[in-house]
Amino acid sequence: MNLILMGLPGAGKGTQAERIIDAYGIPQISTGDMFRAAIKNETTLGLQAKAFMDKGDLVPDEVTNGIVKERLAEDDTKNGFLLDGFPRTIDQAKALDQMLKDLNKKIDGVIEIHVAEDILVERLAGRYICRNCGATYHKIFNPTKVEDTCDRCGGHEFFQREDDKPETVKNRLAVNIESSAPILAYYQKLGLLQTIDGNRPIDDVFADVKHIIDK
Ligand code: ADP
Ligand code: AMP
Repeated sequence: MNLILMGLPGAGKGTQAERIIDAYGIPQISTGDMFRAAIKNETTLGLQAKAFMDKGDLVPDEVTNGIVKERLAEDDTKNGFLLDGFPRTIDQAKALDQMLKDLNKKIDGVIEIHVAEDILVERLAGRYICRNCGATYHKIFNPTKVEDTCDRCGGHEFFQREDDKPETVKNRLAVNIESSAPILAYYQKLGLLQTIDGNRPIDDVFADVKHIIDK
């Protein structure tokens, strides 16, 4: 089962991805996570990506397509994968088609989580992440059950993303609103797109995600 999870920054892709990978045993391929790991490890890729990410701009297609191509060739994707945050441009969508063709694979479905822009701003402002396992929380909408303790791994250290600062969020949303519209149209035309109302409790959104996947 090869899936794409779409939605603007803050729509809940990472939150739903955590549940999907647990329920269906397929790996999550998040280009944002891959870039953040590269920045942390101070690799060449990290250096290339950082300037774009800090401004909330997209990392150039050739860099992004390259890391996805390498990742899709790994063995753990053989029974399926969940792309999160990729593709974000038409060029990336077309590059993905070619990569999958070369691997004799195809996309089975595209799930878009739709949330209004003003709510996204609130979600990004309150987002915090476990430094140990990467689980995502929100100060108001989705706090840890026990204060300062990750529900998933018991970790006690959390961080907020640099690009969740209000100055950067404005540009990120504008960039992603513009770039996502043609991709949604592209997958709609292929009959692959399913849109979910993401402005509901996390478990309700996940129930819809499951319903779509199980179909
Ligand atoms: P994305 O990966 O699409 O950028 P996240 O999954 O990181 O989005 O979610 C953004 C923020 O919104 C996080 O703080 C998360 O806890 C919170 N969140 C996710 N889904 C919901 C929801 N359905 N209702 C309220 N808050 C949510
Ligand atoms: P995300 O974690 O998905 O919110 O992505 C964080 C940042 O990483 C984005 O604002 C971009 O700078 C970069 N990024 C992630 N995925 C892509 C992509 N598919 N194409 C270009 N840039 C990306």
